Amino acid sequence: MFNFYGAKIRQLLMFRKGNKLYSIFTGTCPKCHQESMYSNKNPYILSETLKMHERCSHCQTKYKIEPSFFYGSMYVSYGVGIAFAVAAFVISYVIFNGGRNVAFLSIVLTLIFFLPIILRLSRNIWINMFMHYSKDLAEKSKSENA
Ligand SMILES: [Zn+2]
Repeated sequence: MFNFYGAKIRQLLMFRKGNKLYSIFTGTCPKCHQESMYSNKNPYILSETLKMHERCSHCQTKYKIEPSFFYGSMYVSYGVGIAFAVAAFVISYVIFNGGRNVAFLSIVLTLIFFLPIILRLSRNIWINMFMHYSKDLAEKSKSENA
């Protein structure tokens, strides 16, 4: 199911390589968008949710700019978490008219269930605030690997 979801997202964003959203939603290298930053693409393998490659094998970008660089993504995850919570609230309370307890429960369950995705999205957003897509790097690496 998640692979299906991932494939759909990739399909939607396929033509937007070079756009930050592509890197944020696919977890690809923020500079060349050519490969995943994570050792396992599936965030629900919990032991590997936050396991990342040290460098991009295409453009050699080092992901961890400085020690504990990704601690900063916790600020981002706060915002991302709220976005998920608001979505859960709107769906359960406003759309399904579920009442206060149901809304509360769906918010809690949503945050638990989507935690791996929230954590990765936050890292992707965080690193994309510091690094930008470079067409040169993307094409250079492509021709080197061809
Ligand atoms: Zn790269």
